[in-house]
Amino acid sequence: MVAYLKGGEVSYNADQKIPVVRTYDVIVAGGGSGGCGAAVAAGRMGAKTLLIERASYLGGTSTGGLMAVMWAPYDSYSGYCKEAVDEMVAMGAAQTGPIVPFDPSILKQVHLRNVLKAGVDLLFYTYVVDAIVENGAIKGVIVENKSGRQAILAHQVVDATADGDVAAFAGAGFQMGRSDGAMRPVTILFRMGNVDTKELLEYANDNADQFIKDTHVNFVVPEEGKLRLAGFFDLVKTAREKGELDKDCHYLRIETVDFDKKVALINTVRVYGVDGTDAWDVTRGEIESRRQMEALITFMKAKVPGFRKSFLIDTSDMLGVRETRHVHGVYTLNYDDVLKGRQFDDTIGINCTHLPHGKEMHSPDANEGGETDVANRVDDWPRLCHEIPFRILVAKDIDNLYVAGRHMSATHEADRVTRNIPPCILVGQAAGTAAALCARKKITSKQLDIRTLQRELLANDVILGHPIPGVAKGVSAGQAATT
Ligand SMILES: Cc1cc2nc3c(=O)[nH]c(=O)nc-3n(C[C@H](O)[C@H](O)[C@H](O)COP(=O)(O)OP(=O)(O)OC[C@H]3O[C@@H](n4cnc5c(N)ncnc54)[C@H](O)[C@@H]3O)c2cc1C
Repeated sequence: MVAYLKGGEVSYNADQKIPVVRTYDVIVAGGGSGGCGAAVAAGRMGAKTLLIERASYLGGTSTGGLMAVMWAPYDSYSGYCKEAVDEMVAMGAAQTGPIVPFDPSILKQVHLRNVLKAGVDLLFYTYVVDAIVENGAIKGVIVENKSGRQAILAHQVVDATADGDVAAFAGAGFQMGRSDGAMRPVTILFRMGNVDTKELLEYANDNADQFIKDTHVNFVVPEEGKLRLAGFFDLVKTAREKGELDKDCHYLRIETVDFDKKVALINTVRVYGVDGTDAWDVTRGEIESRRQMEALITFMKAKVPGFRKSFLIDTSDMLGVRETRHVHGVYTLNYDDVLKGRQFDDTIGINCTHLPHGKEMHSPDANEGGETDVANRVDDWPRLCHEIPFRILVAKDIDNLYVAGRHMSATHEADRVTRNIPPCILVGQAAGTAAALCARKKITSKQLDIRTLQRELLANDVILGHPIPGVAKGVSAGQAATT
């Protein structure tokens, strides 16, 4: 019961009791890339595991957000990430290469199958709204759903909400976005059907100067059914100057084109200054995204070759939030670590990507794709690999709490590469494995022997990186960078 107080506040009844409905070894909060990696790993380790998700499906941003391209070269994948992608490839639902386009509906099914096969309990349509903390250690979470407000206890908790909701509720420290608090823009993606791919291809081939130069970002390989185009610079500029497109729209980014189905995935909406942890702001971002999308569709149908007879198939059903909290871990990954391909004694895997060295991606300051955006206008994007240290997943301020996903402990600059889907799945697998080991041994997250964790990850096909005595022969980040 809640009482209304004068002065604009309400108070919970002091005697309010919340029922403890279940107890687990491991709770995973959030069923996106990090959460699926964590839940599958913990379940396979034999830990009694619960995965809590506010939506009705798994995969989070990668599926519901329609973000259907893994931004990392396929040959760098290992562990559960490779397994899930290989399952999609076998079903004809993903293509391998420097980046990996996939069918988001199929990934939902692949994750669901693997989570259930691992013996994990699932709770959909449920928000985690608070954390239970005692003597500096997390003991469980409070959830809300159709059944009301309930408490669920666990020995270990993996926060895979992407926003670090559990960590924030528990009182852990975090950095919002960049050092000045600014965050990357939010986006909804949408798919257009009945695209005339022949006409689109002809335009791309005849107007190479109108597109980003880098061949990892842009590629036109019709014989392999691969097309990805970012640019259409002059068409966009003319429309923007006439007020037909948003003032911050400088390029049209077609994330992928499926030649057989004639479907194009559009990643061009950009809304700046949205705080993804503020429900009112998220709503504003959603509405503004949809306004920009309508303008883009009108523009594409009128001006962009291949789109005249196209139609809108679907849109992201959750706002694509690129950045919010970076939870303070025992270590914080920085951009130097990434650029130098640093090796860590507590490595839990390799993260590779093609990156314009030293340049901002999806800057909070707008101008993405603009004439002075060197990353998108003049750079080539060489391959870069670094190891991921376990310490960036271990919450510094709260025991038995891990952060698995884009909110891992990394600076805004390092987050350019850590926020991609493959590293999020990878850190999920490490966090879930660590949580299961700690629950089994009845120890805290900070007492875990790193070699035990590394041996377990290795046994589950994770490539750790450099040689580790007594654990792995290793593939150095340097080697991985050139393969
Ligand atoms: C527009 C956009 C484009 C991108 N482009 C690419 C790309 O091309 N390639 C690439 O590899 N990556 C890309 N990324 C990055 C990548 O998609 C994400 O960073 C990554 O998928 C995040 O995974 P995650 O597990 O951390 O979070 P998510 O996948 O967002 O998962 C978090 C899950 O937690 C749930 N949740 C959140 N809060 C709660 C709560 N309180 N209670 C219960 N459940 C909760 C959510 O519903 C969600 O399912 C893009 C991201 C965006 C937004």
